[in-house]
Amino acid sequence: MRRRLDPRRTAEEFLRSFIITIDGPSGSGKTTTARLIAQRLGLRHVDTGAMYRAVTLLAIERGVDTGDAERLGELAEALKIDVLAEPEREPRIRIDERDVTEAIRDPRITAAVSAVSAHRAVRAAMVKRQRELADQGGVVLEGRDIGSVVLPWADVKIYLDAVVRVRAERRSAELARAGVNAAVDDVARELDVRDTLDASREASPLQRPVGAYLVDTSETTIEEQVERVVSLARSAAEERARTRALVTPSQRIRAAYWATCTFVQFIFRVLWGMRVKSYLRIDRAQHYLFASNHISYFDPPAVSVTLPREVHFVAKDTLFKIWWLGRVIRFYNAFPIKRGVFDREAMGHALTLLQSNRSVLIFPEGGRVAGGKLGEARSGVGYLAIRSGAPVVPVYVEGTDRLKDSFFRRTRVRVIHGKPIRIPAELLAEYQSEDDRALYRRYSDMVLAAIQALKERSRS
Ligand code: C5P
Repeated sequence: MRRRLDPRRTAEEFLRSFIITIDGPSGSGKTTTARLIAQRLGLRHVDTGAMYRAVTLLAIERGVDTGDAERLGELAEALKIDVLAEPEREPRIRIDERDVTEAIRDPRITAAVSAVSAHRAVRAAMVKRQRELADQGGVVLEGRDIGSVVLPWADVKIYLDAVVRVRAERRSAELARAGVNAAVDDVARELDVRDTLDASREASPLQRPVGAYLVDTSETTIEEQVERVVSLARSAAEERARTRALVTPSQRIRAAYWATCTFVQFIFRVLWGMRVKSYLRIDRAQHYLFASNHISYFDPPAVSVTLPREVHFVAKDTLFKIWWLGRVIRFYNAFPIKRGVFDREAMGHALTLLQSNRSVLIFPEGGRVAGGKLGEARSGVGYLAIRSGAPVVPVYVEGTDRLKDSFFRRTRVRVIHGKPIRIPAELLAEYQSEDDRALYRRYSDMVLAAIQALKERSRS
């Protein structure tokens, strides 16, 4: 048997390359659990809370006000921090070589950190670092927004929670070990304040990420919770290895469609210097829901010709009224959608396509958004992803709105395919048992965060 098709072996390989995220409120046991899981599985470990604490420490030392968004953003941007813990190594947090592991746990820092971490500029700088640290895979990251905003495409997502009393008891015992006397009631109050701030802020609030397993630690021991997460990670890796080894027919592309894509892509490359970068490793039998930002009428052809699947996509219903154009775009799998309303029929058609293993390309902002910034996500992509169960591939496109400039190579057309966002089968079944619009919305937000991540990549 070929090595790559041995499911047991590939499961181990998958596991070692996995990104595992652990989110949850203060005192839910994230840091200890994450560290032990990293040790058990031989992964590296990043405590993202320590990063926000380090910014807070510097701000206090330098007398920067916790409301001063601009200076805090600069501090965060310039911060030279070392948080990555190698497996088997006691994690130490360093700023510019200075060991601040203990200093960042000071109650003054704890009291100020939520205010500091609520600033968008601070978050943007930290999120960028966190994504870089996760880039190679083989890492456990813990925090508040890792599975939802920082790494929507993570392989295993966990949400740790426990009732506030239990969390306060744990924190108080931890503080006592460090020689600080703190009554459980006081700690409970302080946790409550911090949770409320973290969960109600506008930028990346604390939430259970879509696709995250809920692990309640109120009544479990550390060993039990570590065991649970390790077994979830192992089954995810085995599932991936099984899918990879399946001997199923691969997805077919019509010859004429393929030939057109090759030709159009050639034209885009020659005339507009198009570059395509893909982080997507497709499974041969898998269909996908591709979700791209949208800046120009040229996006549907520019994006779809780069995709490794024959895709179906929506086009304005008025285009179908022009008889020759209608026939042409139908041949290339366009189907009509009414603009400006939630078109149930078009959504139903997209869902039917996905359910019959076809791939679909949609634009989650629901229309073109000019001006260089991404728009707001509509609930459509979340609805289709949850109802169909298809993995979502985020796609970022730029330059199609300035074709004249790229003709002279001042800019280029770029298309980037991200890693797919997958929801574990058992969570999907849970989600499908109800029709939860808020959930669709949160899924869509997560897709937009993933497109934003690709956008930032295109700059670096
Ligand atoms: O986990 P820890 O208590 O060290 O986190 C400190 C603070 O950092 C949290 O209360 C929260 O305000 C912030 N934080 C965040 N996003 C993360 C991790 C931590 O906003 N991913």
